[in-house]
Amino acid sequence: MRPRKAVILGGGPAGLYAAWTLLQLGFETHLIEREPVIGGLCASLPAGLNCYSHGTHAFHDADVKFLEEFRSLTGNNAIGKKRQVRIQLGGQLYPYPLRGIDLWRNLPVELAIRCLCGFGGALLAAPFHRDRPGNAEEAIVRLYGRTLYEAMFADYTQRFWGMPVREISAEFVAQRMPRFNPAERV
Ligand SMILES: Cc1cc2nc3c(=O)[nH]c(=O)nc-3n(C[C@H](O)[C@H](O)[C@H](O)COP(=O)(O)OP(=O)(O)OC[C@H]3O[C@@H](n4cnc5c(N)ncnc54)[C@H](O)[C@@H]3O)c2cc1C
Repeated sequence: MRPRKAVILGGGPAGLYAAWTLLQLGFETHLIEREPVIGGLCASLPAGLNCYSHGTHAFHDADVKFLEEFRSLTGNNAIGKKRQVRIQLGGQLYPYPLRGIDLWRNLPVELAIRCLCGFGGALLAAPFHRDRPGNAEEAIVRLYGRTLYEAMFADYTQRFWGMPVREISAEFVAQRMPRFNPAERV
């Protein structure tokens, strides 16, 4: 039987992972990259004796299967790091992903109560949504309530992604936004 063939345009993370997957499935795979180096937006570019990256190269650990495959390729070169992100609100720094207990302790009382009510409302409303959220804003509001969204997520998300949150896909929230754990929900 003739080998099945695949051609992939672009050697960014998506193209590389597609090529890796197709190779595993037995395809004769060709990857075409127009730049002199692969990696796309995640590429590290050599300059003199050094190598520079466009930005951080961090993977979230939500997709366990993907991480296992990734580690099988990189071995010990992939370094595990605990994420240490802080969000500043009203002069106070909060660990991110947010923890309910930090919000409750540090937010101004009136705002904390509004956030709590909004979050409780979102939890109660969750079983009654019949349709899927249309964009990231709707998805985050359904998860956390409107007050928490406006206080914590709207500005940060818009600045990070460089576009209005309403123009970001709701899928992004499913893939990337952390959730309060069950104990904190209670
Ligand atoms: C500063 C910065 C920091 C980031 N940090 C992280 C991070 O820590 N964690 C994370 O998960 N994500 C991070 N990202 C996002 C991540 O880099 C992108 O989501 C990812 O690179 C997208 O992969 P992609 O393969 O879809 O596209 P790209 O990375 O854009 O790759 C597309 C590739 O296709 C090639 N190409 C395009 N057209 C053609 C053509 N006609 N023929 C041949 N080749 C073509 C391009 O040259 C490019 O190499 C960061 C992005 C930036 C800019």
